[in-house]
Amino acid sequence: MSSASSGGAEGSRQTPLAGVETICTHFAEEPIAQGGGASPPIHQSSTFMFPNAEAFETGRGMGPPQYEYTRVANPTTHILEQKLAALEHGTWARCFGSGMGAIVTAVGACLHAGAHAVVVGQCYGPTRTLMSHYLNRFGVETTYVHSVRSEDFLKAIRPNTRLMYLESPTTGYMEIPEIDPIARACRQRGVTTIFDNSWASPYFQQPLDFGVDLVVHSATKYIGGHSDVVAGAVIGRDDGLRRRVAAEGELLGATLDPFAAWLLIRGLRTLPVRMEQHQRSALALARLLESHPRVARVNHPGLESHPQHAVARRQLSGYSSLFSFQLTENSREATYRVMNRLRLFGIGVSWGGYESLVVGGSLFGHDPQRPDWIIRLYVGLESTDDLLADLSQALEA
Ligand SMILES: *Cc1c(COP(=O)(O)O)cnc(C)c1O
Repeated sequence: MSSASSGGAEGSRQTPLAGVETICTHFAEEPIAQGGGASPPIHQSSTFMFPNAEAFETGRGMGPPQYEYTRVANPTTHILEQKLAALEHGTWARCFGSGMGAIVTAVGACLHAGAHAVVVGQCYGPTRTLMSHYLNRFGVETTYVHSVRSEDFLKAIRPNTRLMYLESPTTGYMEIPEIDPIARACRQRGVTTIFDNSWASPYFQQPLDFGVDLVVHSATKYIGGHSDVVAGAVIGRDDGLRRRVAAEGELLGATLDPFAAWLLIRGLRTLPVRMEQHQRSALALARLLESHPRVARVNHPGLESHPQHAVARRQLSGYSSLFSFQLTENSREATYRVMNRLRLFGIGVSWGGYESLVVGGSLFGHDPQRPDWIIRLYVGLESTDDLLADLSQALEA
């Protein structure tokens, strides 16, 4: 794994060149200064008191973090924010009460009435609803790009474009657009780029290194890792964007609860070992599916057969465990039969926790008259052999 040379959000203890596993375990924590506990204190407090009136008058927003009110900042949440900034090779991070809270805040910080946004065609469903059915009420126009070619993203830019919203791999077919040329051109043209990095987690991909301006996460997924928290984060390097995201976040109020922040700090400690296990199991399952006669197509960017596998290898240092496939018998009945036969995969949305999950449905592929019936697997932390056996038996005709 690479190292975080830029480690350290504002006011953090300097831990130069901390490796990823060390950031997850120790970075930004000061157990001795905080009473010696190996686990940091949970500052479950809405407000913070000042020693005197003068400190209240002058202390706010100056020098080291001076906590005032938890919608603005909280010491437990700040530990998490420093770790996420370091993991994403950013200089600051801000956490939110959900991934959508993070996304609506980041997007809102970039747009105004009359502005235009370019959005990756297969983005996360609620992000699409935000752009098409919510922001259009405020006079924002959106163009969706159904392509992986950078030229097609750049062609969609207009004089009033303010935002390029990216996700890679994309939702559904797990396509991999090439980010570097898009980010570079956007920077030259004053278009802010946002990248949803939930799929890879900061363990396998650091989009800020490709020139992306803001990374957003559903921390509900791999960062939390135990299916017990809903949370989000925005990470960046630019100080102007930090101020805009902070101001927008304070107004919209999608604040992360300090206890949830503590659960996420706890989740991060095992992120590297979990991601290695997820990667191993998911690749084993994807290879089984790829060679199975009942399977028409497997959408996993780690397979050599994936159309953008070469780009995936450049952008990602590894692969997470959410992917999809399609049966040769492209029907609702066949798709649901396989889903219903699986025993270790719960039928349900979300992913990133310890437990394997499956969802299935129709997606419109190349032919809008003929939906592709897609099965999306989320591969959890069960034994790889048990998962392989379960998938094999579910595919028996
Ligand atoms: C789940 C998810 C989100 C939304 O996150 P919440 O924590 O559910 O609000 C955003 N993007 C992607 C890719 C997701 O999977």
